[in-house]
Formats: sequence, C-alpha cells, structure tokens
Amino acid sequence: MPPLPSTAAATAAATAPQQLESLLPRLATLSHYKQFHASLLASGHLHSHPSLRARFLDRLALSSHPAALPHALLLLRSLPSPATNDLNAVLRGLAASPHPARSLLLLAGRLLPAPPQPRPRLDALSLSFALKATARCSDAAATVQLHALLIRLGVAADVRLMTTLLDSYAKCGGLASARKVFDEMSVRDVATWNALLAGLAQGTEPNLALRLFHRLAGSFRGLPPREEPNEVTIVAALSACAQIGALQDGLGVHEFARTLGVEDNVRVCNALIDMYSKCGSLSRALEVFYSIKLEDRTLVSYNATIQALSMHGHGADALRLFDEMPTWIEPDEVTYLAVLCGCNHAGLVDDGHRVFNAMRVPPNVKHYGTIVDLLGRAGRLAEAYDTVMSMPFPADIVLWQTLLGAAKMHGDVELAELAATKLAELGSNVDGDYVLLSNVYASKSRWADVDRVRDTMRSNDVRKVPGFSYTEIDGVMHKFINGDKEHPRWREIYRALDDIRSRISELGYEPETNNVLHDIGEEEKQYALCYHSEKLAIAFGLIATPPGETLRVIKNLRICGDCHVVAKLISKAYGRVIIIRDRARFHRFEDGQCSCSDYW
Ligand code: ZN
Ligand code: ZN
Repeated sequence: MPPLPSTAAATAAATAPQQLESLLPRLATLSHYKQFHASLLASGHLHSHPSLRARFLDRLALSSHPAALPHALLLLRSLPSPATNDLNAVLRGLAASPHPARSLLLLAGRLLPAPPQPRPRLDALSLSFALKATARCSDAAATVQLHALLIRLGVAADVRLMTTLLDSYAKCGGLASARKVFDEMSVRDVATWNALLAGLAQGTEPNLALRLFHRLAGSFRGLPPREEPNEVTIVAALSACAQIGALQDGLGVHEFARTLGVEDNVRVCNALIDMYSKCGSLSRALEVFYSIKLEDRTLVSYNATIQALSMHGHGADALRLFDEMPTWIEPDEVTYLAVLCGCNHAGLVDDGHRVFNAMRVPPNVKHYGTIVDLLGRAGRLAEAYDTVMSMPFPADIVLWQTLLGAAKMHGDVELAELAATKLAELGSNVDGDYVLLSNVYASKSRWADVDRVRDTMRSNDVRKVPGFSYTEIDGVMHKFINGDKEHPRWREIYRALDDIRSRISELGYEPETNNVLHDIGEEEKQYALCYHSEKLAIAFGLIATPPGETLRVIKNLRICGDCHVVAKLISKAYGRVIIIRDRARFHRFEDGQCSCSDYW
C-alpha cells in the first residue's frame, strides 16, 4: 500500500470523521496507525466519535503487525472511560494472538488502570472472545468461570454465545459439560450441532458423535431451517467414522451428503478420502480424490490421498502422486511425512532418502523417525545411527525404540545395548523394549544376558501396554482385549479359535513364539499368542458374518508377527479378505498374502 497522503496528519484537525473513516481500510504499516491515532487525538474525534475509535481499535488489534496489538492495548488503557466496544476490540485481538490467555487477564480488568477509573461493562461479545481464548489454551477451569459469569450477566439465552461456550468445553476436553450445555439449550442452530459433533468426534467419544448425527439426520426433514445440517456437519460425522473405522456408517454419511447436495464440496471430499482410507477402502478413497477437479484440489486433498496410499502399502503410488502435485500447491510437513511413511512401508530406501534430503520445510522428529526406521530396516544401521546423531534436537524414546527394533532385526548387539541404555536413561519402561533386547541376546545364544534382562524387568515393575482391537459388525462396534472373556459370545469365539488353529495347522502353521517373553514355557507362550485381541476380533467376525464377507479390524498397537501369519492363513483357509488397521498402517490379507508384503 502507498503511504498515506502526507497531509493527512497536518490537516487532521480539519478532517471530518467520515474522511478519516474512509482512510481506515488503507492503514497497513505501524506509521500509518500512529498517524491515524495522532489525527484522532488532534481532531478530538477520539472522544467525540466513539464508534470511529472502536473501529480503529478493531483494525489495530487484528493487524498482523507485531507492534499493533500492544499499541491497541496502550490506546485502550489511555481512555478515561473506555466503552464496551473498545474493550471488545482488544479482547478479540488478544484472543486471536499467540498469547490468548492475556485476553482473560484483560477481561478480569487486570490489564486496565486501577479503579476508580471506570471499567467498561461486559457483554455477550466480550464473553464470546474470552471463550475462544479458553478453547485455544485448553483452560477448562477458566471456561467454567466464564460459564458462571455468563449466567450472572443474563446472556445465557444467546444461541451463538452458548454455542461458543459448548465449543470451548468440547475443546478443553469437557465433553460431558458440552453435552449438558447442548441439552439445556432451548434454541439451537446448526453451528450448535456441529460444535458438539466435532467435539465428540475428535475427542474420546466418536461413537456418541455418530449417535448424535443419526439423531440429527433422522429428523432432517422436520428440522427448523436454522438447524438443517450442512457440510460442516458432514465433515464432523465423517471424522467420527474415520476414528472408529466404521465403514457402514461412513457410507451412510456419504449418502446423506448427496441428499444435502454437498458431496462435491472439497472439504467434504477431503473428509471422505480420509474416512474411506481409515475404514480400509482405498479404492473408494481414490475414487473420491479423482472426482475432484484438478483446479479444486487442495493441499489437504493431496495429503489425505498420499496418506491413504501410504497406509495401504502403495508406497510407489504415494511417491508418484507426490511427484505429480501441481506446482501451485506447496507440500507441508504432513505431505512429507505421508510420502516418507509410504517409502518406509514399501521399503523404498533410496526414494525415501531422496525425498528426505529435498525437504523444503525443516524436518521434525517424526520425519527423522521415519527415515531412521527406513534405513534401519534396510540394514543400513550405521547410516541410521548417524542420522540420529545429526539431528538438531536430542533423540526421543520413539527414535531409540526404532533403532532398537532395527538392531533386533539385524542382530546388532552393540547397537541394541546402546539403544536400551538410552531408553533406560529417558525413563522408558515398557515391556516391548525389554523383549527386543532379550531377543537380540537370545539370537546370539547369550542366555546369561537374557536372564539379566528378565531380572531387570522384574525389579523395575515394567509397564505393559494393553493390546485391544475393534471390529464393526452390523453397525455395532465390538471391543476385544488380549485374552478377554467379556464378550457375550466369548465361548463361541474361543471355539472358533480352536477351529482356526486346526484348519491353519493343516496349512503348515507353527506359532511364532519369538514375540513372547523368553521366561515362560513354550506351551504358555503359545497360549499367550492365541488370544491376542486381533485374533479374538477375527474369530468373532468369522462367526458373526456371512461367508465371504470382508472382515475389518482396528488394533491399537502394531500387529505382531504371529497374528500376521495367522491372518494370512485365515484369509486362505476361510476365503475371506481381512483388513487390519494397526497403529502404523493397513494390512489387507487375501488368499494367504498381505498387501504389506510382510514389511511393516
Ligand atoms: Zn499378535
Ligand atoms: Zn501385513
């Protein structure tokens, strides 16, 4: 923007408020703001035209110039009796700034001159800005206080304010409070529904989000227009389906998006790609991606699709799509991580290295983790170790676990010991680390060391991360924990496991007991493996669905070697496609093979 006319300040005294007002949109630099401030002072409009002043404060507080917001606060403090609009302008600026908590201090009057200076009255807008700040800093206690204040000020009937309150509770993790606010609102609009849906979907309650969505969709035709679902509703519902891998629900939401006429909205498409991918249907995810016109595709569309290809083991395709990204879309951290993971899952070491070295954003710990994993699995242990040492920040637990895993895979005792020492220093105390180290020793027949590791585990009271799996049958999610007998049909499930065992032994199955601690007997080891949660989920799927139907399972940890072998054999023996999403990726088992080519 060109500088303001140099006469602006000089003629300020004679400038009519309308003329000054017309200059407002052109203010851009700090010196513009200062000139304008001076004009307001010199002309006397600062006090005679409070609405012009508030609009100037608004502009100043939201400016991207780092000195503008402090200047707005300074101006506010200099006013002998600031109005609510003046306060709100600065509150809004602070709430959107890198230090949102400062808006709460201002609301409490702590940034204003001490009494007897009069304090501006608070209104619904003031509280709404403060609630946005508590949401941004996840300050649950402050949200509760603002809730009380809001009732005291008598503004609890304001739908938009109550929606902001609900949203703030949801973002601070107070899902129960968010629901309570929702239930108590006599009037709602679609934003209210969307705030609760998004909160539940991204929080710990995706199941509840889906129930709420069905309630909304079920009463769709009878809803008042202000409550009619829109594309934001669809995106939130799809995110819930993705979280729990509920494909049937996801298909239903997609159908509903068509009813609403928002299925071509690019945000909906991006959410669909993510949902289909996480629910195990790569082909549907790709179909949605290629249905978006090239010029409409966004970075998120590419990220979701590259992630989908990579999670499903199509590393080369992920890499190709990455290379084909249009020049007007700049890849970000998420893109790079997705393409590196794709290379990792597909064992494309040199390609991964090339992408990593050409990154146009600084690599973070996850990018390093992936490249270290890639090098380590390929047996390039020295390079993997050097990469860790070259990082501009210290290696974390996950990185050392990655190196430990690589050392185990390639039987490198020295590196395994080093990694285990670092893990102990960092306070990691999980059973998996000890099992890996113990397996390295066992592979070299160093039994005394194996015993030593076991003793350390005993004396350190090692933490076990419980494994669990989900499967969706007829729209209902069933959860299984390793070895549990909680499911109402557990007897049938265990009988099915016996049947599985005998049918896959005919195909040459022998339990891979390496994944179990050395200090239990061979028979117990086999027993422990038999009842891994993903096996329970698959067995249940076999008895609860018609022959030939695809089974989908979600597992919270990485799938173990034995479950991987068993799933392959079940896919052959029972003629079923089995899709398992574990912590790291997808495995699609069909006719005795897995899409990951045993590389995970
Ligand atoms: Zn297992
Ligand atoms: Zn696999």
